Amino acid sequence: MEKVNLKSLYLEEIEAFLKELGEPKFRGKQIFDWLHAKQVSSFSDMTNLSKSLREKLEETATLEPVTIVKCLISKEDGTRKYLFGLENGSIIESVLMKYEHGNTVCISTQVGCRMGCTFCASTIDGVERSLSAGEMLSQIYEIQKDSGERVHGVVLMGSGEPLDNYDSVMKFLRLVNHPLGQNMGQRHITLSTCGLIPKINQLAEEGLQITLAVSLHAPNDEVRRKTMPVANANPMKELLMACEQYIAKTNRRITFEYALIQGVNDSEAYARELAGKLKHMLCHVNLIPVNDVKERNYVKSSNENVKKFAAILQKNGVETTVRRKLGSDIDAACGQLRRSHMQK
Ligand code: SAH
Repeated sequence: MEKVNLKSLYLEEIEAFLKELGEPKFRGKQIFDWLHAKQVSSFSDMTNLSKSLREKLEETATLEPVTIVKCLISKEDGTRKYLFGLENGSIIESVLMKYEHGNTVCISTQVGCRMGCTFCASTIDGVERSLSAGEMLSQIYEIQKDSGERVHGVVLMGSGEPLDNYDSVMKFLRLVNHPLGQNMGQRHITLSTCGLIPKINQLAEEGLQITLAVSLHAPNDEVRRKTMPVANANPMKELLMACEQYIAKTNRRITFEYALIQGVNDSEAYARELAGKLKHMLCHVNLIPVNDVKERNYVKSSNENVKKFAAILQKNGVETTVRRKLGSDIDAACGQLRRSHMQK
């Protein structure tokens, strides 16, 4: 019999599972507390449960642990990059970033990715599988334990396309926000998507207060299709319409991500074209000088071009920031640490 992924269950689901085991309902809250508030990584740590229940759980359930394979700590800013091993031996990457306003963790939602963006290291070997809600939570819990730091926010910007793993990601969002668990404020959660229109529409109906980030990386379909295969089935006009509707439904400002690649998408004309499309929207553009990916021939835009691009957007009324780079001394942004590890 396949084991139950206990960390991926809502409280009510744990209670139903316990009922099947012939256990009283109140044990559900105790277990939920061990998993999501105390965040223990073994059943034997759950000391207020009877020994026989702990043994029963051992036989029928799993805690979907992630174990640290490697951790690099930046001397410059304290950023920590983690490689985690999953139960089946797969490797994923997560990052702890320290900001003045609190600690944020970047987590993976899939092992690899199948979206095929040409500038992204996570997609080179395709997707191996999607992560469960529990495996997403475990990345945060394990980082908290290892670093001794409380995590205040999370960005779903590690490997994987969150909206390609929709149900588990929704479950993760609700569990990480649960008042009896990590209790992370929804406003401290950012979900980043390459722009799957039907899923954005679905997300708008969930009644969540998270921040949606959309990876645009181009001012029009022609340029976008060069680097993002997903642009073929999700044209920009409809994508921006879905974003408008998302804003109208949720009253939340959207972030558009734009990785600047020299000679590909960083001209002044493109900046003006983009501004024209975004200026009336409740949004914010985050410019990221592209991280070099060895496997591709992309070079990041010069500082001068990044500044010019930002200035044009701002002059046209589009709020714009340039992403500050953290942990540059420990290599490996966007899935590159995992890749270099796997090639050894
Ligand atoms: N699949 C989601 C989330 C994961 S990637 C998405 O596409 O949004 C998080 C962000 O990093 C995305 O905006 C992605 O386009 C960007 N990214 C990927 N590779 C990059 C690189 N080499 N340089 C800069 N940004 C990159």
